[in-house]
Amino acid sequence: MDPFEYNANPSRVVFGPDSIQKLPDELRRLKLSSPLLLTTPQQVSSGEDLAKILNAASIKPAGTYTNATMHTPSHITNEALEYMKSASADSVVSIGGGSTIGLGKAISVRTGLPHLCIPTTYAGSEMTPILGETQDGKKTTRSDPAILPGTVIYDVNLTMTLPTSLSATSGVNAIAHAVEALYAKNKNPIITMMALEGTKALAESLPTIVEDPSNQAARERAQYGAWLCGVCLGSSAMALHHKLCHTLGGSFNMPHAETHTIVLPHALSYNAPAIPEAMKLLAEVLPGSNGNAVQGLNVLLEKLKVKRALKDYGMKEEDVAKAAQIAVSNQYPNPREIKEEPIKELIRRAWAGEDAKDDL
Ligand code: NAD
Repeated sequence: MDPFEYNANPSRVVFGPDSIQKLPDELRRLKLSSPLLLTTPQQVSSGEDLAKILNAASIKPAGTYTNATMHTPSHITNEALEYMKSASADSVVSIGGGSTIGLGKAISVRTGLPHLCIPTTYAGSEMTPILGETQDGKKTTRSDPAILPGTVIYDVNLTMTLPTSLSATSGVNAIAHAVEALYAKNKNPIITMMALEGTKALAESLPTIVEDPSNQAARERAQYGAWLCGVCLGSSAMALHHKLCHTLGGSFNMPHAETHTIVLPHALSYNAPAIPEAMKLLAEVLPGSNGNAVQGLNVLLEKLKVKRALKDYGMKEEDVAKAAQIAVSNQYPNPREIKEEPIKELIRRAWAGEDAKDDL
């Protein structure tokens, strides 16, 4: 067995249908009585439902800030902090996807207030001590144990409204965390177990959700998989795939989950020659792989009926070379050496929506 180090990220998880009803108990456990609620403009009604649950339990929210925005722009964080000061909150509760949770992290790490999360997508931010923030159009990411939310409530009912296409891409975004954990420079057997179990749960449940979005059992299994994959993201050094998506999102404004979905088979096939063991393990949990993990991903994406080309989201062909330059300019650990020409071809294929091939 290879030697390894393992650090558990301490957070409390409450999982199950209707677990949102346990928020009052969770706040009381922590001796908190005046939470600031956070939502996006699209999920205002989730915040209202939460306020009703708290009011019924005689907990009066300090207020609700409803302007959470993708990539945690600093002006939004400052606005939310101003709102919070006037409301004298003793804690933060974020209900939503990675954008809302990102705002909760940004507030919590600046103020030291406890952060409780109620995730409604499969992106996994709630399980990580990582925060990406944007200032003047530039996104920077940092990691700090103080960023990790203390309590996470997974309630499948809140995911029932997640649109089918976002369910599919958000689920593949989660699988991407697990894939890169399998060959991370700090990989270890505990995270490997979670990565494989999380991938299996998502690969089996997402096609059912796409066919029948109201299937609660499939939604619950996807949420379970997303939790495990989020733990992988929070515990492992991510490599080529996440760096490419960070570049495409940060510098070319590509949408988060959709970009992860398009890039994943290409990034995996680039690294494949350097990671035979990870490829074998992954193929075992991807239905239809026939022993080839890239094929397994292709089969999954086919079933999920997702868009496969970055150009579908407005990326221009002349940006392919620029993206490759940015992606190779920062050094980061990756199992295979990063070279500009094959990376450019990888991005071109993702841009054009071609199948991933093993000839890069
Ligand atoms: P999101 O939070 O941006 O949500 C996308 C849209 O879907 C929003 O309008 C949201 O209100 C809506 N939505 C969310 N859940 C819904 C539901 N159940 N029903 C109906 N609508 C719903 O999307 P995301 O993919 O979860 O998060 C993306 C952001 O999170 C990016 O900024 C990304 O960088 C960040 N992220 C960070 C980490 C981390 O560890 N720091 C991890 C993953 C993602």
